[in-house]
Amino acid sequence: MNYPDTRLFINGEWCDSSDRRTIAVTNPATGDVIGAVSHASIGDLERAVAAAAAGFIVWAKTSAFERYKVLRKAAALLRERLEDAARLLTTDEGKPLAESRLEVGSSADLIDWFAEEGRRTYGRTIPARSCSVQQVTIKDPVGPSVGFTPWNFPMSQIVRKLGPALAAGCSIIVKGPEEAPAAPAVLFRCLQEAGLPAGVANLVFGTPAEISQFLIPHPAVRKISFTGSVPVGKQLASLAGLHMKRVTMELGGHAPVIIADDANIEAATTALVGAKFRNAGQVCISPTRFLIQSRVHDQFVETYLKKVEALKVGDGLAEGTQMGPLISERRRAAVEALIEDATAKGANVATGGKRIGNTGYFFAPTVVTEVTSRMRAMNEEPFGPVAWIRSFVDLDEAIEEASRLPFGLGSYAWTTSAATVRRLAQGIQAGMLTINHIGLGLPETPYGGVKDSGHGYEGGSEALEAYLTTRFITMDAI
Ligand code: NAD
Repeated sequence: MNYPDTRLFINGEWCDSSDRRTIAVTNPATGDVIGAVSHASIGDLERAVAAAAAGFIVWAKTSAFERYKVLRKAAALLRERLEDAARLLTTDEGKPLAESRLEVGSSADLIDWFAEEGRRTYGRTIPARSCSVQQVTIKDPVGPSVGFTPWNFPMSQIVRKLGPALAAGCSIIVKGPEEAPAAPAVLFRCLQEAGLPAGVANLVFGTPAEISQFLIPHPAVRKISFTGSVPVGKQLASLAGLHMKRVTMELGGHAPVIIADDANIEAATTALVGAKFRNAGQVCISPTRFLIQSRVHDQFVETYLKKVEALKVGDGLAEGTQMGPLISERRRAAVEALIEDATAKGANVATGGKRIGNTGYFFAPTVVTEVTSRMRAMNEEPFGPVAWIRSFVDLDEAIEEASRLPFGLGSYAWTTSAATVRRLAQGIQAGMLTINHIGLGLPETPYGGVKDSGHGYEGGSEALEAYLTTRFITMDAI
């Protein structure tokens, strides 16, 4: 396959960076450099801000219905190009082709949903204290926005920011993932061909810290959205706070999975192989801390191991691959260090725990048992293909462990008891809880965390609220 270099998209045009600087793009399945992405200079960023400011004036005055038509057309174009986009996504990010197809398809679904929801940004009429007074609220787009998006879902992470921003009438500058830029370029081409006016959506790449330091304080930028790690999120939120910018922060997680002793182990283990090893575990809602009630612990581990060991690891483009490589050598070393720390403190590697092959960044699907809360892996976001398992006796103990960390993003549970469902729903401190199935991340449902996992939502009607301001107007008859 011909892998195209990615350029910047500013003011409706594809361009090289002003100083011609580029960043190499690597295929994580081979470790080979396959292409390059343009590295924006400060001058390029200045142009992007000017374009977004001008684009905002045009787009905010475009009716919600016209915006809807452009976005729906972009989604339709994306579906036509699904296969090409998915192949590019697998080539630079590594996930199996089937997962890339799902990501591109769900990106189109997200755009559709936000497009439609943009037609329902209703204000309201508030009964006044005098008959001659009318009190109303109206919703306005917040202004030129900036989205910082990571490499793990190169397309859908962009759409979760750009979709609601454009539907609400904002313009946006996206700082895309330098590791995986090709699929984002396909998305922007669809928007361009769908008739999005110049400057309304801009795509830049470069040195992340340089871009955030420049764009967040910029007076023309009104809203920031970031997906990435907690430490970086805190830095960016502080900077945004200093300049009184609205923020949405979609940060790391460390998702607990509670398996009660009345759970359907067969169903749970099957669902959790898919959820855990999707994108090699490099997912913010990836199940990580497996808490198994002691009576079913051994049965769970035995059943789970059989299914994990059957996973086919390989190049994401190869037929039948179920798990691809990690994104980089850095991530692979980070996962290894967590396993070393855990085993030194008494954990048991039940399967995997090692690198695979001599090319690319492959790591075996891994299950570690007998973990304790003293281990680094049970405290830091692991972001890799490892299930960390421990047992518990009382449900209260599991709920306490589930809520112990500063993270609070995704959480999972299996039980057939209605009483247990209720206790879990009330007790677990997480933005999202899915019980007896894998049900997170649909366009129409809220997606976001509590505590250090961030604030704001990137799904459901809440996602649009993040790009809208509410203005209150009260009018008395003359
Ligand atoms: P990293 O912290 O170097 O980068 C994570 C993301 O933040 C990248 O997209 C990067 O471009 C961006 N970033 C880093 N510094 C930035 C800055 N100063 N300004 C703007 N953007 C900045 O980590 P990594 O090794 O690439 O990824 C692993 C870690 O990142 C994980 O521990 C995980 O917490 C986090 N992560 C989270 C998600 C998510 O979906 N929430 C996605 C990808 C990565």
